[in-house]
Amino acid sequence: MKLSARDINENSTWQEMTLGGEIYEPATSKLVNTGAWRTNTPVLDVAKCRHCLMCVPYCPDSSLPVLYGRLVGVDYYHCKGCGICAEVCSFGAITMKEGGEV
Ligand code: SF4
Ligand code: SF4
Repeated sequence: MKLSARDINENSTWQEMTLGGEIYEPATSKLVNTGAWRTNTPVLDVAKCRHCLMCVPYCPDSSLPVLYGRLVGVDYYHCKGCGICAEVCSFGAITMKEGGEV
């Protein structure tokens, strides 16, 4: 039987994989902790944030969640620490700290 993407792990055999390792289900990237390989970490200063949302479309990993038109934090499960958000914020509300720890 072919495994679905969410059931594939380091013990899966090639016989269980789909042809070519292709993934047919949508949104499987949500399952992967891409933040685990982050080397730098953005820190949001909520007091400085003006909720202009300029940083949001620049984030290549969609890791800046917005709720009711306001930035509500950083999705550290997926953020890879590229630092683009800190670069584009005109209000200095995001700074980068060394290391991947939150
Ligand atoms: S760009 Fe800066 S001020 Fe604007 S929402 Fe992002 S963190 Fe807040
Ligand atoms: S550091 Fe990069 S990946 Fe993380 S929230 Fe900022 S723009 Fe997105």
